[in-house]
Amino acid sequence: MPAPSPRLIGSEIYRKSTYGPKHPLAIPRVSTALDLIRALHWLPGDRYLDSPRATPAELARFHHPDYIAALMRAEAEQAVPAEVRERFHIGARGNPVYPEIFRRPATSAGGVLLAASLTAAEGGILHVPGGGTHHGRPDRASGFCYLNDAVLGLLRWCDLGLTNILYIDIDAHHGDGVQDAFQDDPRVFTLSIHEGGRWPFTGALEDRAGGYARNIPVPPGLNDNEFLHLLRQAVLPVARHLRPQAIMLQCGADALEEDPLARLSLSNNAYWEAVRAIRGMAPRLIVLGGGGYNPWSVARCWAGIWGVLDGREPPERLPPEAEAVLRALSFHRAAGRNPPEHWFTTLRDPPRPGPVRGEIRHLAAATLEGLPDPLRGVA
Ligand code: ZN
Repeated sequence: MPAPSPRLIGSEIYRKSTYGPKHPLAIPRVSTALDLIRALHWLPGDRYLDSPRATPAELARFHHPDYIAALMRAEAEQAVPAEVRERFHIGARGNPVYPEIFRRPATSAGGVLLAASLTAAEGGILHVPGGGTHHGRPDRASGFCYLNDAVLGLLRWCDLGLTNILYIDIDAHHGDGVQDAFQDDPRVFTLSIHEGGRWPFTGALEDRAGGYARNIPVPPGLNDNEFLHLLRQAVLPVARHLRPQAIMLQCGADALEEDPLARLSLSNNAYWEAVRAIRGMAPRLIVLGGGGYNPWSVARCWAGIWGVLDGREPPERLPPEAEAVLRALSFHRAAGRNPPEHWFTTLRDPPRPGPVRGEIRHLAAATLEGLPDPLRGVA
């Protein structure tokens, strides 16, 4: 039976949801990406699925019931007492109380859970741009992430019998919450490329989480050629070695040059090439969003990812409806004062080439040392 066509799971909950005017997640992301995709006529109705909201029981597969209850109460009361801030980091450390503080992450989790269930049964490709909250912890919020939808989806795959799963994370920040959730678990191999020396300050090259993780901490200024070197000389060889039953790819868009929170220098061509190359490496693929704090860059990158997954080529110049989506955005940071014209009129960035530094070659070679043999399941 051939795999079904790629599908996209989204929700309208993201459209007006914000973490507050001064927070990096004040900006719209998923809604803009979807508006762009629709303006390009890239999303026939039968290829879109509305995300269900995960139930507290589903969330309890990874998260502590007291923490889930605290999130629900924070949403109802729109305030938290000091002990909740202290114990669960809700309303603290960049994780504000906001109107959809439970419903929004629970919807992201529901989308990734649905994607895992569908792909486990049928194979194929699901894009869940609202997912990718890779810092979430069992019992606390971390790094703007309240729940860890990636971990929940991976656990769903495990619960449905998969035993050889590859998680790849190309967000600018280390995928610490996912790596730690599967420490010593041979069913899920985690591979993270992230900027070294940046929060959460984990994910050193030597950190292998009991053997089933690899970390590639890259220097500032990572360019397209360096990223493609890591893709071809580290990521794809790992995937070829493991021959996974399923791949989950977290595509946080904060490694793009224009992102205000990191110092990497990729163009969206690098992301699209990664998606194109990884797409055929397993019979099941879930592609998530993640970080990304420049509203134009995120939306253009993620819309293009859907295009790659669905075999569509971006037009040289966006049609007027798509351009209007991008022109309607505003951004109260330095980058928003004088946005370059191509943020409005194109999907594709100019490439950001550069020399491949020796450090990058070393990182790629070290990643392949001592790879474990994968578990071979029946699924
Ligand atoms: Zn990030």
